[in-house]
Amino acid sequence: MSDLLKNYLGGRWVAGSGAGTALFDPVLGDELVRVDATGLDLRAGFAFARESGGAALRAMTYRERAAMLAAAVKVLQARRDDYYAIATANSGTVKNDSAVDIDGGIYTLSTYAKLGESLGERRFLLDGEAARLAKEPLFQSRHVLVPTRGLALFINAFNFPGWGLWEKAAPALLSGVPVVVKPATATAWLTQRMVADVVEAGVLPAGALSVVCGSSAGLMDALEPFDVVSFTGSADTAALIRSHAAVTQRSVRVNIEADSVNSALLLEGEAPGSEAFDLLAKEVAREMTQKSGQKCTAIRRIFVPEALYGAAAEAISARLAKTSVGNPRNEAVRMGALVSRAQLNAVREGLAQLQAQAETLHDGAKHTLVDADAAIACCVGPTLLGTRNAAGSDASDRIHDTEVFGPVATLVPYRDAAHARQLIARGQGSLVASLYGSDPKALADAAIELAPLHGRVHVISPDVAALHTGHGNVMPQSLHGGPGRAGGGEELGGLRALNFYHRRAAIQASTTVLDPLA
Ligand code: NAP
Repeated sequence: MSDLLKNYLGGRWVAGSGAGTALFDPVLGDELVRVDATGLDLRAGFAFARESGGAALRAMTYRERAAMLAAAVKVLQARRDDYYAIATANSGTVKNDSAVDIDGGIYTLSTYAKLGESLGERRFLLDGEAARLAKEPLFQSRHVLVPTRGLALFINAFNFPGWGLWEKAAPALLSGVPVVVKPATATAWLTQRMVADVVEAGVLPAGALSVVCGSSAGLMDALEPFDVVSFTGSADTAALIRSHAAVTQRSVRVNIEADSVNSALLLEGEAPGSEAFDLLAKEVAREMTQKSGQKCTAIRRIFVPEALYGAAAEAISARLAKTSVGNPRNEAVRMGALVSRAQLNAVREGLAQLQAQAETLHDGAKHTLVDADAAIACCVGPTLLGTRNAAGSDASDRIHDTEVFGPVATLVPYRDAAHARQLIARGQGSLVASLYGSDPKALADAAIELAPLHGRVHVISPDVAALHTGHGNVMPQSLHGGPGRAGGGEELGGLRALNFYHRRAAIQASTTVLDPLA
């Protein structure tokens, strides 16, 4: 039997009392480790996090907490090789794709360490200017942001066990709020190992960081009024979280990052083979295949002027055809596996649903796996679908609302700019849209038009071809989250992320009381 990973709760390592759920290598099929949370005293563990972890963190200044994050960065950097080995085994990702999760997470943590420095030796933040309330200027109102007195529970998705932890923990810990993370079971190993390394290094106060691996049962029940919960995952689970009594009755603040049918849009007026056209083809192929398309931000729908449908189909397909798929341990492989058999089945099912309303332009099933047994490995080739004419893109509802969480996207022809916007809007709110073109004014106008439907608009013009950070890459400086079906959440965006972990309060008093607060 494989090793049973322990949970870290209440300031100690504790094993679940059940047999555990096994985690597998999605390429070789081997059992790796087991996780279990049966029998944990969640209420006592949460109380310890709030009382010991919270108090110790709040006693520190922002600058001290920033130094603590910087120390955690050093710990993680020293263990990168271990994390890559776990990612290869448990997520089936090639090195470059593991980097998005591992180095992306460490980079995000180090960004918050630097941002935190700038907040100085304070323990609370000011929000705006003081406002006069009375006839005389002596009595005023001043808004402050103070760390919430609860804990932050993170319920995370399987696709980013590293980054998903640190992109949330960095702003929470910097804010002075203790963290309990519950990683998705399928890939919990990497999260558990990173927490273990940071805990063992002693760079955080006791109770500041805890990890519960295995079932989510009871986690939401253990939340109290000043706690916050940040969820990343499917819309169905999000609906359960939102309707839980902790949220509806105890006003636990909740942030939801859910699924999303993201778009890429080639503006009108770009010829086939133009720089903007080629940038679109390149980015689409990269986004479809990075992490085997298991990114919440990946491009799912590609909008091109009707006359360019054939040329775009050819250009993207030519790039996809070059993607070697299989065992990530083989240097020739560019795209590894899906994370599990359940995901493989879900991708096949979703693809079949889309294929009922779209033609197949590049068939992933034709890719021969490199160094992997097709009967065992959870690998799929990238598939590009398409709706041949603009009328077809109007009629096909599934492509606008089905997120196939794998290397699958659909090419959609549009008649004019208004039609493109109308089709994009059928995604009902997404995390990100990317725009491709060479006319700065047209790009700026389109970006503002699409901004209300997205958390982020990524504009790729030829002048930034070598500089831009990628459609799907979530940078800590920019907002992550999206309206509508994307969950309505907001994460990152530099110091904006701290808002979620602070309470805003107005202090009404004499300026003699208020002035020393500044
Ligand atoms: P999921 O099935 O909804 O699971 C997400 C997390 O919720 C897991 O930790 C899961 O634990 C837990 N969970 C399951 N049932 C729960 C319940 N009743 N109460 C509390 N927690 C519960 O999603 P997933 O399959 O892991 O992730 C894929 C989805 O996440 C995709 O749709 C993707 O678009 C979305 N995603 C969004 C973002 C974003 O930032 N917007 C990022 C990544 C992924 P177990 O694993 O133990 O079941």
